[in-house]
Amino acid sequence: MRPPSHLALPFFEAHHRDLAHELGVWAAEHVEEEPEDETEACRSLVRAMGEVGWLTLCVPSPAGRFEQLDVRSLCLARETLGYRSALADFAFAMQGLGAGPISLFGNEEQREAYLPAVARGEKVAAFALSEAEAGSDVAALATTATPDGEGFVLNGEKTWISNAGIADFYVVFARTGEGSRGLSAFIVDAGTPGLDDTASIPLIAPHPLGTLTFTDCRVPRSALIGEPGHGMRIALSTLDVFRTTVGAAALGFALRALDETLRHVRCRELFGGTLADLPVVQSKLAVMATEIDASAGLVYRAAWTKDAGAERVTKEAAMAKAYATEAAQRVIDAAVQLFGGHGVTTGSVVERLYRDIRPLRIYEGATEIQHLVIARQLLNEAESN
Ligand SMILES: Cc1cc2nc3c(=O)[nH]c(=O)nc-3n(C[C@H](O)[C@H](O)[C@H](O)COP(=O)(O)OP(=O)(O)OC[C@H]3O[C@@H](n4cnc5c(N)ncnc54)[C@H](O)[C@@H]3O)c2cc1C
Repeated sequence: MRPPSHLALPFFEAHHRDLAHELGVWAAEHVEEEPEDETEACRSLVRAMGEVGWLTLCVPSPAGRFEQLDVRSLCLARETLGYRSALADFAFAMQGLGAGPISLFGNEEQREAYLPAVARGEKVAAFALSEAEAGSDVAALATTATPDGEGFVLNGEKTWISNAGIADFYVVFARTGEGSRGLSAFIVDAGTPGLDDTASIPLIAPHPLGTLTFTDCRVPRSALIGEPGHGMRIALSTLDVFRTTVGAAALGFALRALDETLRHVRCRELFGGTLADLPVVQSKLAVMATEIDASAGLVYRAAWTKDAGAERVTKEAAMAKAYATEAAQRVIDAAVQLFGGHGVTTGSVVERLYRDIRPLRIYEGATEIQHLVIARQLLNEAESN
């Protein structure tokens, strides 16, 4: 992987550039691009990244604070892994997202019990917020957690849960009261009686995904993260950090598409020259590169702003996620077009990227929701000026 030009931007320090280089070398040596069995590949990627220490980039030590994670490093890691493999990026990011609520709001015992094992790749983490009727509209969440004796009893169904079936534990958001202040977060270990995590959902860009069913699933009070009623805050604070990094993964996919395209157009001969000689093709390349640089600017502006101490980066993160994922889709589509028939042939890199990018425009807040977030903030700012 050639060093992306945005690494020269003043957002980065020397250790960021070293990280991008070292992880790029590691990924090229250790990450298989087309694994046969994505479930097994996901488990072994988590173990491999844990052994080398890469997961400490997204999972702080029990004594560290989640807020102190270096978001630029997180983004560079997702960009670099995403360049190589969407599954490797997914395996990395889910450890951070699944452990995020514990890092941010867990007590000392919870942090000791889960974070080191997640960082070493010994426990696979998952984040269970969405339900069939509560995707974009999180407040419609209906899974209940009813206080009972020394703990809570969970009933309901979660769907679209990444790592369902392979996770060692799930951070589950359930209703303990009315309205958006009535949500709470719980750690539910896989294998807890009353939890069924065996229903899987096949995806166009395969990664472990499924539905969780809770039937009188009893968890102790010690499974509660933070205070009852703080679930919405816990979920949104976690997503606030990870939203920018989804844009970074998209950036990695787009960069790969551009590199593949540059290689292809220079050697594809037609009409007595190469594709690269044609002005129409050059114009396409220029637009692809410009969209990539614009994405990088937005992603690393958001990451840098958070690292520089901003408490919330809601607008910046929403812009980065929405723009970079949509731009990556356009860049990859242009790549597929320039590859002609090879672009839509199963097994080609750009065909894989074409499938891989699609879910990123939907999960962790679809583009339309990010636009609502940006507009709301703009209007609030205008109101207070
Ligand atoms: C691959 C994948 C992995 C996922 N992993 C997880 C996970 O690990 N954990 C988890 O909890 N969830 C996960 N999800 C769920 C994901 O967060 C939801 O799919 C997402 O929030 C959208 O919800 P939905 O699918 O119900 O779509 P809907 O909410 O039904 O939205 C459908 C469309 O309508 C648009 N829309 C909705 N509301 C508005 C509005 N007010 N204005 C304009 N447009 C609107 C949306 O933007 C979207 O385009 C995952 C999803 C996918 C696809």
